[in-house]
Amino acid sequence: MLLAISCKKQETEKEEAFQKNADSLIAPFELTNNYKAFFTDDTSFPENGEVKVTFFGVSTLLLDDSETQLLIDGFFSRPSKNEVMTAKISTDKIAADSIISRFKMDRVKAIFAAHSHYDHAFDVAYVTQKTNAELFGSLSTLNIGRGGGLKEDQMSLFVPGKLHNFGKFGVIVLESKHSPMDSKTNHEGKEILFPLSQPANTLEYFEGGSYDFIIRYNNKTIYIKPSANYIKGMLNTF
Ligand SMILES: [Zn+2]
Repeated sequence: MLLAISCKKQETEKEEAFQKNADSLIAPFELTNNYKAFFTDDTSFPENGEVKVTFFGVSTLLLDDSETQLLIDGFFSRPSKNEVMTAKISTDKIAADSIISRFKMDRVKAIFAAHSHYDHAFDVAYVTQKTNAELFGSLSTLNIGRGGGLKEDQMSLFVPGKLHNFGKFGVIVLESKHSPMDSKTNHEGKEILFPLSQPANTLEYFEGGSYDFIIRYNNKTIYIKPSANYIKGMLNTF
């Protein structure tokens, strides 16, 4: 009997723990339903040695210390779901120009594309051209650049582990792994082998390898992980 009571108590505790866990899982979802409430429109200039990081969605990030800007990814177009699934599309130049202008992206020294799926690299060629930056990426990303008219001296192939310096920023590229994909998009590691020109179907933007970034700034380190997977031990030396 005592055992039964004990089991019953354990069951109740389990149920309570499950409910608590479920509540915590639901809470962020409820928040994301109202995601626009979290938008800010801060185009202010970083001051007093601050490093400002602006998030443009997916993993497009602008790092700015008022002297030097770095861009992680380059995805400013927002094609509709229908366009993504069926149409051949091109960079939304009006949207990209507006962001480049509003965020005063005239000091972008380098653009690092985390991988070559469209939601990371669709606009990198146009943005590299407009900002006069240098595009760093995988073979696939560089073929997106070539298809967009970039010249070889505007692009550099990733060298994982190498430190690149831009102003006070240091950037190290790390090999990583894409989050698990479903069967329709299961082309992990598949390369874009030839220059990819627009208009193009978003499904032509193969992953081409995934990368993380370590950003050094003075004595601070920022770790950027654009896709939710990892290679075991990759951070052991950092
Ligand atoms: Zn992806």
